[in-house]
Amino acid sequence: MAAASMAVAKPAMKVIYNRHFPFGNYHAINLFGIIFVQKRWGVMGRHELNHEFIHTMQQLEMTYPLFYLWYGVEYLVRLFQHRFNSNKAYHSISFEREAYANEHNLAYPRQRRPFAWFKHLRQANADKT
Ligand SMILES: [Zn+2]
Repeated sequence: MAAASMAVAKPAMKVIYNRHFPFGNYHAINLFGIIFVQKRWGVMGRHELNHEFIHTMQQLEMTYPLFYLWYGVEYLVRLFQHRFNSNKAYHSISFEREAYANEHNLAYPRQRRPFAWFKHLRQANADKT
């Protein structure tokens, strides 16, 4: 298909399955484009991979240190906003909002505009999670 050849080159997605990392009940963590997954959660599905791929795109456009800094600061702000409910805080981080809202659309990484997560910043109180 002609349109596909116009797509931006995808960064490589490396997935490392292991026993203990990420710790606790987190299924996966994306560190510098490498996905770490606890084995007990099984092999990642297409939508989970898409979710992590969206994070990789966010990391690349933010450059890695700024991504993690922003992620951490926004998480703290959301914690206060949601009265220390860590699950609500996590789901309302703009990077996560973008990833969760679009993980089921496998074409999304090709359609996505740079810094698309930014428009999710202002939806802090709009959803119920
Ligand atoms: Zn995520």
